[in-house]
Amino acid sequence: MHHLDPALQPLYEQVLQRNPGETEFHQAVLEVLDSLGTVVRKHPGYADARVIARVCEPERQIIFRVPWVDDQGRIEINRGFRVEFNSALGPYKGGLRFHPSVLLGTVKFLGFEQIFKNALTGLPIGGGKGGSDFDPKGRSEMEVMRFCQSFMTELYRHIGEYTDVPAGDIGVGGREIGYLFGQYKRITNRYESAVLTGKGLGWGGSQVRREATGYGLVYFVEEMLHSKGGSFDGQRVVVSGSGNVAIYAIEKVHQLGGTVVACSDSSGYVVDERGIDLELLKDVKEVRRARISEYAQERGAQYVAGGSIWDVPCKVALPCATQNELDDDGALALVKNGCVAVGEGANMPATPEAVRILREAGVLFAPGKAANAGGVATSALEMQQNASRDSWTFEHTEERLAEIMRGIHERCAATAEEYDVPGNYVLGANASAFVQVADAMIAQGVI
Ligand code: NDP
Repeated sequence: MHHLDPALQPLYEQVLQRNPGETEFHQAVLEVLDSLGTVVRKHPGYADARVIARVCEPERQIIFRVPWVDDQGRIEINRGFRVEFNSALGPYKGGLRFHPSVLLGTVKFLGFEQIFKNALTGLPIGGGKGGSDFDPKGRSEMEVMRFCQSFMTELYRHIGEYTDVPAGDIGVGGREIGYLFGQYKRITNRYESAVLTGKGLGWGGSQVRREATGYGLVYFVEEMLHSKGGSFDGQRVVVSGSGNVAIYAIEKVHQLGGTVVACSDSSGYVVDERGIDLELLKDVKEVRRARISEYAQERGAQYVAGGSIWDVPCKVALPCATQNELDDDGALALVKNGCVAVGEGANMPATPEAVRILREAGVLFAPGKAANAGGVATSALEMQQNASRDSWTFEHTEERLAEIMRGIHERCAATAEEYDVPGNYVLGANASAFVQVADAMIAQGVI
């Protein structure tokens, strides 16, 4: 199926053999290696320095037991992970995911992607990711707190402002970051603000961090549409998911004059032809932590249990839920219904087959590691504010975010041109980020 450059094939085989069963990690590595064939043909030095092989091997992988006691007094055991993948550009940086599907391979795929994403921001952050197979759904506030405290009781020894700085991801939002920070502070007796990002606004958090991934995604896609003379104004848009990334993507699309007519959760999707009512959606999802079916019921909108949200006709599709949620069938449906652009808000939401179908049909495609980098970029701005004991206004921070996203778009587009594949943002993102990380690693010796 894939025609990797012959110079990279043995390396990919070694990755498969060394990391058995980690299919998501294999998929993420294959996508990057696919782009790097073009890079090593132009610059063979990277193959000679074995820097690609080094990038595929995490610097450190930590796995730990997380025991805690539920509200019935039962002892629960979860597994915790932190993969510190690459620190060539700065301290490891990347979120924590709490979801029952989390395995080591999940965290490795996310950590690997994070290296390149963080490089693209132009800010001094390395790549890492962590999480647990803990399922927060249906858990009480106190159970979530006890879990977070137990998780941090081990994690604290591996992280730090200059070492590794976690943030949120699926299942980890402001509430969980609060409990994690509180426990870190108790154990270490240090008010080390920049050890975690995504903190509350009153205690070291940054304006716009909550909105950053969704807003940044929409800025990136708007730039992509501009490059073809288009924009979000007047467009029908579909956004999958209804979590942090999805909600603020919807908000920004509406601010730019588009209409989001559908969103989803893991149980089903809602179609709301009048445009999603964000106040109601935020109340259902952020305050009540309820299902999207409740939104549909209260709003009088259509609800489809299960099914594929990609069957809903749209001009722009923004997958913002989870990996591999947009497959070949979804891509074919989007193309058939006249979709012109897809932007990945989630990490690796489109399968390789879906990406191929979209690109062959001439659909503009923004890969997650470029398009969703606004979240981690704003986390890096939070670290900057913490380091200078300062806090910036919403307007100033949002302007910085917008500037960073325009810069990432420009960098990906220019790199694609340089390698003679104009408009190929996947290659543009992978090649540009890899070269920056590789040059730093080579300069730092055999590391
Ligand atoms: P949230 O937990 O806030 O929301 C996740 C959303 O996706 C929920 O609507 C959830 O539905 C749905 N979802 C999760 N897992 C599945 C699944 N297996 N099948 C179907 N739907 C699912 O997470 P975020 O919004 O923070 O993250 C969404 C994506 O964006 C992830 O891929 C994440 O890695 C990526 N991302 C997040 C960043 C951030 O700053 N938060 C930064 C960059 C990328 P349900 O409630 O039913 O579980």
